Amino acid sequence: MAEVLGTRVDIMTRREVEQKISAYLKVKSEKSCFIVTANAEICYRAAKDPELRAVLNSADLCLPDSVGARWALRRQGIAAELYPGVELAEWILRQGFSVYVLGAKPEVLARLRFPNIVGKHHGFFDADAEKSILAEIQRLQPQVILAALGAGKQELWLSRHKNSLKSLLIGVGGAIDVISGCKRRAPKIFRKAGLEWFYRLLREPQRLFRQLNLLRFCLAVLREKQGD
Ligand code: UDP
Repeated sequence: MAEVLGTRVDIMTRREVEQKISAYLKVKSEKSCFIVTANAEICYRAAKDPELRAVLNSADLCLPDSVGARWALRRQGIAAELYPGVELAEWILRQGFSVYVLGAKPEVLARLRFPNIVGKHHGFFDADAEKSILAEIQRLQPQVILAALGAGKQELWLSRHKNSLKSLLIGVGGAIDVISGCKRRAPKIFRKAGLEWFYRLLREPQRLFRQLNLLRFCLAVLREKQGD
């Protein structure tokens, strides 16, 4: 079993992930299937937060989703193929599965057009709105719920409701902003160099505080190895 700072991660190829999802969605299930896409930042936060760590470790599948996570695994001699959440979300949308999108800003959702999106709600809701969101999801019975509420928050939300939902549940972070065309993903040259995080920092300097967690993540991984 592979772990990144105490978070269990499943080492699978993209093809295996797609096969597993297709197999789950082929038959109507009475149980949800909870998938986490784990980047370095959320692994670092989980290392500090036992509740979040328990939630991530309770997922049916936890896929490494950043060069940081891949680097941490490589240090353990594990070569992991990444399936970034944005690409996984796009693949799901293009397969034609019925999808409910929960999260992102209203203006972002307005630009997100796929015929198989059966329902959507922005991610800035109160307790009353949450009740009607859950009722709407129960009525629509989507095959997939893409939760884009931000890393951590979306996993806690999905975990809290997973027993009453019968869908494939995936936290996809900022993927909806990109797929809708509202935000640009880093150009290939940045992605290939493992510098997608740097591109995001250039575009959104207000992320600096959060990006410091990447540095803390690297230090924690290096320290973990020394502690062995
Ligand atoms: N978001 C949301 N509700 C919130 C906080 C964030 O719907 O309370 C959305 C936000 O609009 C964006 C997405 O969550 O579409 C991901 O946010 P972030 O940029 O923090 O991405 P991450 O680093 O978690 O992938």
